[in-house]
Amino acid sequence: MTAHPSAPFLPSMTPAGLVDPFGRAVTYIRVSVTDRCDFRCVYCMSEDMHFLPKQDLLSLEELDRLCSAFVARGTRKIRITGGEPLVRRGIMTLFKSLSRHLDTGALDEITVTTNGSQLAKHARELYACGVRRINVSLDTLDPVKFKAVTRWGDLARVMEGIDAAQAAGLAVKINAVALKGVNEDEIEHLITWAHGRGMDITFIEVMPLGDVEEQRADQYLPLSLVQTRLMERFDLSALPDQTGGPARYMRVRETGGRLGFITPLTHNFCEGCNRVRVTCTGTLYMCLGQDDAADLRGPLRASESDELLQAAITDAIARKPKGHDFIIDRTTRQPAVGRHMSVTGG
Ligand code: SAM
Ligand code: SF4
Repeated sequence: MTAHPSAPFLPSMTPAGLVDPFGRAVTYIRVSVTDRCDFRCVYCMSEDMHFLPKQDLLSLEELDRLCSAFVARGTRKIRITGGEPLVRRGIMTLFKSLSRHLDTGALDEITVTTNGSQLAKHARELYACGVRRINVSLDTLDPVKFKAVTRWGDLARVMEGIDAAQAAGLAVKINAVALKGVNEDEIEHLITWAHGRGMDITFIEVMPLGDVEEQRADQYLPLSLVQTRLMERFDLSALPDQTGGPARYMRVRETGGRLGFITPLTHNFCEGCNRVRVTCTGTLYMCLGQDDAADLRGPLRASESDELLQAAITDAIARKPKGHDFIIDRTTRQPAVGRHMSVTGG
């Protein structure tokens, strides 16, 4: 039996799968386990960020309970993100406890998006917890530019992290934000480097999330332009989309590798959206680009059983919007949403 998404969850019911009002099944959650980070990337954070007081955060046990409540409703994939997820103290405990859902077959995949700074320390344990694929964010291979983009990062350390991840058996995908005048001239090099190491690479358009010091229009490089330029150099052929996600993939004939484009601005990817995002305080965002949210911390803490929590999840999914309305131009000064990407999780 599939309950209507807005039907109340009653204690006697087996929780039904999550389907939104547009018929999209929600099977993927991204969980931001901290809003803190050891970098201050120019497109993600302002230099002077105010972070949440630690007591507002869900404990690791509460995060496990929340994720498990989604697994009970048909979530097949969990991505742990942040802020920088691997700086959260004790985070490996969460990976370890969630891995039981991989063992039972309830979950297909646990994965992580990281800046790579702590990977050398954690790669083997991630693998031991059943993680098989990770995303590492890296926008440039030039140490000076890397410092300028991340403000606080150290490229050599990230490279050690990538080495450790590959040595541990983790498949690594590189995510790079395309930044006008910053890594614009390095895109080919990033592709040949990543593919040379057996890694997929995906480029992302900068999104107008949260106030940062720079003007978004000064950072924004449309990927349609990047693709046109790349086609002069490489033979690119479209691949069928197998991820259900926002990336469109192409095969680069010269390298044999896969190249992805995430284009929230030039190509709207909402029709196939199968995901929601939970913050480290237990706020559920049904769309990355909209403000509507549901508090799950209240119902989670109000009772030891999951009935209130499940009812709140049901209500929230019934409000999942059709899509986002990102715009970047010189007349639109306000970010699309006030929160930074580090709050909602990438
Ligand atoms: N700290 C981890 C990392 O950097 O991979 C995980 C969190 S980070 C917020 C997730 C992803 O969001 C990163 O790939 C980052 O480059 C991307 N990101 C952050 N702010 C963005 C923005 N305004 N537009 C597009 N991508 C952004
Ligand atoms: Fe930190 Fe990731 Fe945001 Fe960079 S993109 S500041 S590494 S959360």
